[in-house]
Amino acid sequence: MKRIDRICVVLMLMLLFAAPCAAEMLDLSALGEIEEAQAFEEELPQKEWTYPISYELLKTSDYIVLANRESLLDEDYVPDDLTKDLSCRKISYDPIQMRQTAADALCALFDAAEKDGIYLYAHSGYRSYRTQKTMYNNRLEKNNGKDDGVVAYPGSSDHQTGLGIDVINKAGIGKKFTEAFGETKQGKWLAENCWDYGFILRYQKDKEDITGIIYEPWHLRYVGVQVAQYMRDNNLCLEEFTEEWKEAVAEYEAAER
Ligand SMILES: [Zn+2]
Repeated sequence: MKRIDRICVVLMLMLLFAAPCAAEMLDLSALGEIEEAQAFEEELPQKEWTYPISYELLKTSDYIVLANRESLLDEDYVPDDLTKDLSCRKISYDPIQMRQTAADALCALFDAAEKDGIYLYAHSGYRSYRTQKTMYNNRLEKNNGKDDGVVAYPGSSDHQTGLGIDVINKAGIGKKFTEAFGETKQGKWLAENCWDYGFILRYQKDKEDITGIIYEPWHLRYVGVQVAQYMRDNNLCLEEFTEEWKEAVAEYEAAER
């Protein structure tokens, strides 16, 4: 055989042996892929989760708790991670308590404000059910037994969550809180920046009908950064957000069954 013929024979032999092997490999890998896809499909729930906040966060975060007249906190609900006292600037002779994560976030917020030349003061944080009840009864007494909405009904106060905090400026020290705070440099800075530190303005002016509470530009509430930014971007108050996510979860879980 000529050299060229020999090369041809070798090539043909190679093809004869190699082709079935390659085919076998192809088949095997294809089979593997199908099995993988099937396993993945079985893991997937029936309905796709499309809500912008993860299902897991909504089901596990206790920073999104809603406290209002319709959704009362338990008489003996006390968060188990309260700080002894806030470490950031405050105006109070008594210790101010908050849940640890919220307290840390507040310090970060105050630090950021200071960098912009804004000086903020924490005024009151966690309030127990019992304290709220005393405040509420005192208010009723002063107001001839009528609830004027100024002091929250026991169990409905955002302060009992340990995630709410009243923040004021230097000019507000020792004075009654008024909505004019929202027009101050400090109030405007808060309304603009609190979201990026996980806080929302819990009681906004255009949501009074829904929250049932007057506009309080000084009352911040920690919910976590992702939720706070989502609420800001979609102009939702906590009541609206709660209704929205609960509906998404209910739909998803109904479809899963
Ligand atoms: Zn407050």
